[in-house]
Amino acid sequence: MSLVGNWSYPTAIKFGAGRIKELPEACVAAGMKRPLLVTDKGLADLPITTATLDILEAAGLGRGLFNDVDPNPNEKNLAAGVEAYKAGGHDGVIAFGGGSGLDLGKMVAFMCGQTRPVWDFEDIGDWWTRADADAIAPIIAVPTTAGTGSEVGRASVITNSETHVKKIIFHPKVLPTVVICDPELTVGMPQFITAGTGLDAFAHCVEAFSSPHYHPMSQGIALEGMRLVKDYLPRAYKDGSDIEARAQMMSAAAMGATAFQKGLGAIHAMSHPIGAVFNTHHGTTNAVCMPAVLDFNAPAVADRFQQAAAYLGIDGGFDGFRAFVQEFNDSFAIPRKLSDLGVTETRLPELVKGAIIDPSCGGNPIELTEDNLTALFNAAL
Ligand SMILES: [Zn+2]
Repeated sequence: MSLVGNWSYPTAIKFGAGRIKELPEACVAAGMKRPLLVTDKGLADLPITTATLDILEAAGLGRGLFNDVDPNPNEKNLAAGVEAYKAGGHDGVIAFGGGSGLDLGKMVAFMCGQTRPVWDFEDIGDWWTRADADAIAPIIAVPTTAGTGSEVGRASVITNSETHVKKIIFHPKVLPTVVICDPELTVGMPQFITAGTGLDAFAHCVEAFSSPHYHPMSQGIALEGMRLVKDYLPRAYKDGSDIEARAQMMSAAAMGATAFQKGLGAIHAMSHPIGAVFNTHHGTTNAVCMPAVLDFNAPAVADRFQQAAAYLGIDGGFDGFRAFVQEFNDSFAIPRKLSDLGVTETRLPELVKGAIIDPSCGGNPIELTEDNLTALFNAAL
């Protein structure tokens, strides 16, 4: 089976190995003549980035690059990016990278024509309607990892550099116009990033699948996304140049983010403040939290995971799935405890406070309170 496709759901996706070559025509289709490629510092000098800039330059589209993007991008990175965008006379953004490059690139396109501060567009109620939608620049997204799924998302996570709180900024037009999913771009990912990002995609699927809201489309996507991660992450981890495994993981990442329109849950509610306080890797943190959260949610989700286990070829219903998750984590050398990631008990009250106000709480199948979150953090520590 050739893993190539042109999809229009949830946005236009050009999927397949080598398709980064089609970036110039995607720019033209999106109305860009002078795009700004936004990526993080770590990626800026890698061959996949310089080769992509070469493709743009050869097509007469320049080689505009902004790379002052921190691993957890903040409002200062954003202001600098908007300035570079305006100074260079750009007319669109290519958001390139893992979560940080994708999220910041999307925000540069969003903010380049707004007059209000970015925090006015936090994902609360209808705050997004405050934005001037016509002033949002076109966005092309090119993922270089397989996990976040931000390439098919309508929001970005921006950290407030003063309060160290991660805020979700939402607008429907932040969904990229065109996505190029080229699995060859992920071949050079180090093994621990392959595992961490892949397990982030898995957490998106598991949490969307667990969420109580009615959304059968997302439910189906989450289930197949779990299967792809189960079958292909071990292969991509073992042999980074296995293009079939890399392609299936790239699909799973986009599917996880599509599915979590249905909701996330306690894993992400815990992982966001942990990441903000201890600067841990997002996907790895999720993986460490998952067994404790499955135990906690068991009364509400055991039936549903009976079906999932059957579909995934795991014996023993929910208990079998729970055991599989621990073995799966172990096979990628994921620590068993949050304390192994450097999380300390002394900061627990702060983590609980951060978790309780996290928007992900709303999708958990059992209502989260300060008491049960404290118990959950303790179980995961
Ligand atoms: Zn995530």
